[in-house]
Amino acid sequence: MDNITALGGDVYEIDTKMAGYSGITAGYLILSDRPCLVETGTSTSAPVVRDALASLGVGPDDLASVVVTHIHLDHAGGVGDIAKFFPSAQIVVHEKGARHLADPSRLMASARMVWGDKLDTLFGELSPTEAERIVALGDTGAVDLGNGRTLSSHYSPGHAKHHVGLVDSGTGDLYVGDAAGVYLPETGDLRPATPPPDFDLETALNSIALFKALGPQRLLFSHYGPVDAVQDTLERSAEELRIWVDLTRQAHAEGMDLDHAVAMVRDRTKERYAALEMEGEAAEHFELLSGAPSNVAGILHWLNRVNP
Ligand SMILES: [Zn+2]
Repeated sequence: MDNITALGGDVYEIDTKMAGYSGITAGYLILSDRPCLVETGTSTSAPVVRDALASLGVGPDDLASVVVTHIHLDHAGGVGDIAKFFPSAQIVVHEKGARHLADPSRLMASARMVWGDKLDTLFGELSPTEAERIVALGDTGAVDLGNGRTLSSHYSPGHAKHHVGLVDSGTGDLYVGDAAGVYLPETGDLRPATPPPDFDLETALNSIALFKALGPQRLLFSHYGPVDAVQDTLERSAEELRIWVDLTRQAHAEGMDLDHAVAMVRDRTKERYAALEMEGEAAEHFELLSGAPSNVAGILHWLNRVNP
């Protein structure tokens, strides 16, 4: 299938095709003795993921676990559907996200407030998962991949308070979720992802420092794909955060409203991103997944919380 890429070490990248777009949301299958899916994508992605797994030989009873880095709908919106397609799989999530997977009503209500009518086309509806199938992770945890291989989890808040990074002992891959920002393989651009309501600068920087200290061999971005230049990329992640926060802080100090702050930050950062010079899809992808309005709103929300 054209949406599957073999990455070595029995790891397969699956384009989960959020809202039909290519190249913006990645899930990963670790095809070990106990196969594990990292990130389901959205609810509307679930059939795409099921078919991709089937073509890799993973049938309904073969998937041992499903792990999500956090419960935002572009990562975990498909959990309920995937849990139904693969009834033997355990569902693994940080403890701060677990109850929302069992009862998504509050999560969906707040997502509908943010996205309005776009919710249905972009994400679809997260359906509930039986609580007894959910395994909740603490600050650290481990998923058994079989044959001595493990996926260890590391609590990494900042982007979201229910975020974990995951290290595969078999490959040294680190699944970074959104904690290191959004990477665009077409251009090599990296932009922060700082949405409301959880973004917190110190916490986010601490999570990036933790990722560095884990010494991974490769980063696997949910948006989008593998990156080998681990330390440089994580340094860039921290630098991007500081730049966006500094500019938003200036806008805040000058009393700008959200629209003016967004326009100012967008303008002052645009030369950093080759994608914004290109017409078409790449720039669009940035705006969907780490849009300036969402990033600036998240930083302002944090500034108002720490400095009311
Ligand atoms: Zn995301």
